Amino acid sequence: MSSVIAQTLIEKTKNFTIEEALAFLVSEYKNKVVFSTSFGQEDQVIAAIIAKNDLKINIFTLDTGRLFQETYDVFHKTIKKYKNEIKTYFPDTVAVEDLLNKKGPNSFYESVENRKECCFIRKVAPLTKALDGNEIWITGLRAEQSENRNDLAFFEYDAHFKIIKFNPLLKWTLQEVQHYIDENNVPQNALHKQGFISIGCAPCTRAILPGEDIRAGRWWWESSHKECGLHQK
Ligand code: SF4
Repeated sequence: MSSVIAQTLIEKTKNFTIEEALAFLVSEYKNKVVFSTSFGQEDQVIAAIIAKNDLKINIFTLDTGRLFQETYDVFHKTIKKYKNEIKTYFPDTVAVEDLLNKKGPNSFYESVENRKECCFIRKVAPLTKALDGNEIWITGLRAEQSENRNDLAFFEYDAHFKIIKFNPLLKWTLQEVQHYIDENNVPQNALHKQGFISIGCAPCTRAILPGEDIRAGRWWWESSHKECGLHQK
């Protein structure tokens, strides 16, 4: 049923600009529209569009406790510039304490299973809480980011989180994202200029070399399909 709603939304918004599509969602779903930001380039474009158009969209971020200082810097600049309220969700303290007490602070390097356990505690569980009760989840996913994302649609039903995702920048190239940032003086994570394209937790993200896949800097020691459970693609 919800996949049918996603398909209907694709049809209804097919000639809309991003701004029009976001405004339409707010009018249809009121305060059940949320945007998750990790302050990467794509998310910064969406945050700027929301602020510029004064759209009443709830914004949240997940503070895993292992982020780069540069990420906190752009977080701070963003709330100062746009006066956007950004709600922060933290992992459960007891779950993090148990993990560190049992396996130490760097267990994610030891196996994919351990890495997924850490991602579950620090990202997936807080995300589940943040999405609870909402109907539309706006994301900064782009098709170009990985092979897994090639077949994404603008609207998709996420069966895991039981919510409809809207991916407004789906067809944007990285150059288009950067162009919007430069033209609109959007704050961006200083690490992007140092070869970091996709930025997550500090111990699990590195810069990439020219020609490397965009997601190559995430969990680079693994040959898994490089997702943390937030997005299945
Ligand atoms: Fe843990 Fe790394 Fe996942 Fe962050 S990206 S939650 S540090 S495993």
